[in-house]
Amino acid sequence: MSDLRVGFIGLGNMGWPMAKNILKAGNNVLQSDHKLHVFDLDKKRMVKFCKEESGALATAEASAVAKASNIIITMLPTGPIVHEVVAEMLASGALTKGTIVVDMSSSEPAGTRELADMLAKKGITLIDAPVSGGIPGATAGTLTLMIGSNDDKAVERVTPVLQTMSQKLFRTGPSGSGDVMKALNNYLSGVNFRAASEAVAIGQKFGLDPALIIEIVNASTGRSFATEGAFRSQVLTGKYAAGFALGLLTKDVKIASDLAGELGVMAPLCAVTFNALAAARESLGYSADFTAAHKYWTRDVANDR
Ligand code: NAD
Repeated sequence: MSDLRVGFIGLGNMGWPMAKNILKAGNNVLQSDHKLHVFDLDKKRMVKFCKEESGALATAEASAVAKASNIIITMLPTGPIVHEVVAEMLASGALTKGTIVVDMSSSEPAGTRELADMLAKKGITLIDAPVSGGIPGATAGTLTLMIGSNDDKAVERVTPVLQTMSQKLFRTGPSGSGDVMKALNNYLSGVNFRAASEAVAIGQKFGLDPALIIEIVNASTGRSFATEGAFRSQVLTGKYAAGFALGLLTKDVKIASDLAGELGVMAPLCAVTFNALAAARESLGYSADFTAAHKYWTRDVANDR
């Protein structure tokens, strides 16, 4: 019989399908009389989630989630927001000794380490377990999880919950190491998307058909997730709706770029990618889909058409 009482904070693009997969596993993972307590600042979305996904209970604040749970998952936009929410739960006295907080957001590693150390002094464990795979991976339960923690026992305890979201669990090392890995992955994702945008723009200006360029690249050595995924499904179709905000990808590449600076590693491409994303974010806004950066970067070519 499980004694896991899970709470979930942040039911956004990713959090919703991730929480849904925990609910699907139900009593195979959760304590039998436990409802998944959830919280999101967006009340309408939280209520909708609880209406559509049975077994979840909406709460008025994060502290109510903490009161009812011994494992709390956060899937929030940034590390500082995770800090804020955890601080609020601590201040209310709802977050108590023995609780495990699993931050699955893509947060800054230094902030995560700081928060983990602060919580450890109170007998609370923070695990960083950011994810890759986007909405399709979150929905299908096939995300890649990168797990950083100083506490192996806590990781073992939360593993059945994490396995509802994926079988691809990678243990990366101590606290913050999952966040480092995630930032590096998204740097590669960002640089590939930027490079693909440039390549297609050059080819298009010459007179090649963009769809043909992508088809050929995907049958050749230049292919990447950007050309096989986002370019094919979002850019060529004109949908520009992958469900991942430009502001969030920019944040991730900034984390990787800052890390390179802190470690004294020369990473000029990382800085160029960050600047390109930041310029697109300035023009299109934080919430624009990251694939829309293509439109901004290639606006000159588009004007020629
Ligand atoms: P999102 O903006 O869709 O969702 C975030 C949710 O958090 C929103 O529902 C928002 O209302 C809620 N929220 C914000 N502040 C809050 C607070 N103080 N208390 C409670 N709720 C609050 O973002 P997302 O796309 O789901 O991404 C979440 C995290 O996962 C980010 O760190 C992102 O970088 C990362 N990520 C996203 C994707 C993707 O494809 N979207 C993929 C992998 C990782």
